[in-house]
Amino acid sequence: MMPTMIPLSSDTETRPTAAMRGAIAAAPVGDEQRGEDPSVNLLLERVADLFGMEATLFLPTGTMCNLISVKVHTQPGDVLLAERDAHVLRAESGGAGLVSGVITEALVGSSSGGEFADIDADPAGARIPGTFSADDLRAALDRLAMMPAPYAPPATLLCVEQTHNFGGGSIWPLARLAAVSELARTRGLAVHMDGARLLNAVVASGVPAAQWCAHVDSVWIDFTKGLGAPLGAVLAGSRGFIAQALRYKHAFGGAMRQAGIAAAGCLHALDHHVARLAEDHANAARLAAGLATLSGVRLVYGAPQTNIVFFEPDGSGPGAAELARRCAERGLRVSAIGGRIRAVTHLDVSRAQIDEALAIIADALR
Ligand SMILES: *Cc1c(COP(=O)(O)O)cnc(C)c1O
Repeated sequence: MMPTMIPLSSDTETRPTAAMRGAIAAAPVGDEQRGEDPSVNLLLERVADLFGMEATLFLPTGTMCNLISVKVHTQPGDVLLAERDAHVLRAESGGAGLVSGVITEALVGSSSGGEFADIDADPAGARIPGTFSADDLRAALDRLAMMPAPYAPPATLLCVEQTHNFGGGSIWPLARLAAVSELARTRGLAVHMDGARLLNAVVASGVPAAQWCAHVDSVWIDFTKGLGAPLGAVLAGSRGFIAQALRYKHAFGGAMRQAGIAAAGCLHALDHHVARLAEDHANAARLAAGLATLSGVRLVYGAPQTNIVFFEPDGSGPGAAELARRCAERGLRVSAIGGRIRAVTHLDVSRAQIDEALAIIADALR
C-alpha cells in the first residue's frame, strides 16, 4: 500500500479545511463580472484595508496578477528588471514577454548563496538571497542607459518578490526595500511586488503589510499558498492602476461569475490562517535544524526566515533528483529544483510529520 505522502513539495499542497469548506458552502454570491458578488466585494475591501492601498481586484491566480501588472506598467520594448531567480522570470512560461513584449533584465542578487539578514538592519553590501541593494539596481540602470535616448530601451518596471521563493523564503529588509524603491521611482520606474507570500513576511517580521506596501505601486497576495484556500489572489494598487488592470482581467479571461465561492475561502483564510503561519515558520526552522545534523546534505541558505527550506546534496551520495525520488518512495514529497531540494511547510504538515520527514531523508541518504 502507498504510504500517505507528507506533502512538503509546496505550500500549494494545502487542502481546504472542513471549516473553510463550510464557509465556502455558506457564501453569499452574485455576478463578479458586474461587481455584484458580495463575498468578493468584502474580500476586496478587507485586502485594501490590510495593504493601505486605494483599490483591489480579485483574480484567479498569482500568475495572472503578475501578467496583468507587467502589462499595465509597461509598453512593448520596455525593460522589466527583476532578481534573476524571480518567479516572474523563471516560472511563468515567459508570460511577461508573450503578453507585454518586454525585455527582461535579470539583477544578480544572491540566490546562490548569502545569509539572511535581520529585517531591521541592512548591513552594507550584505548578500541576502533573492534581494539586491540600491547599488546593484543603480549599476543595472546605468548599464541599461549606457546609450542615450532614443537608443537605450526604456526601463519602466522593477519587480521585487516578497518572500522570495527560490531565495528560500527570504524577507526583504524594510530599509533595503525602501532604498531600492526610492531609487527606482526617482529613475521613473514603477515598483511591483510579487507578494505571493507577503503575509509570511508580515508574520515573521512583525512589520504590518501596509508598511511594506507603502514602497510599491502594485502588490498582490496569493491565497493558495500557506493561506490554504483552493484558489484566488488579490491585486492592489492605485485606483488608476486597478481600472487598467480590470480591462486586462476581462481581456485575459479572468473575469468570473459567482466567484464568491472562491472569495469565501480567502476570507476564511484571512480570519483563521494568518497568525498560524508562525507554526509553519517554526516547523521550517525545525526541519532545517534537523537537516543540518545529517551528513550528505547541506542547507543552501542557513536557517530559514519563513516557511521554505532549500537543501542540496553534498556530492557524497545521491543527487537531488534521485534523493527526491527515494523520499517519495518512503512517503515524503519534496521538490527537486535546479540541483537542490525545496521543502515548504504549511497547514497540512504537522510538527510530528517534520520529524518523520527528517527520518525519511536520513534513510534515503543511506
Ligand atoms: C506561486 C507563486 C506565483 C504564482 O502564483 P499562482 O497562484 O500559482 O499562479 C508567483 N510568484 C511567486 C513568488 C509564487 O510563489
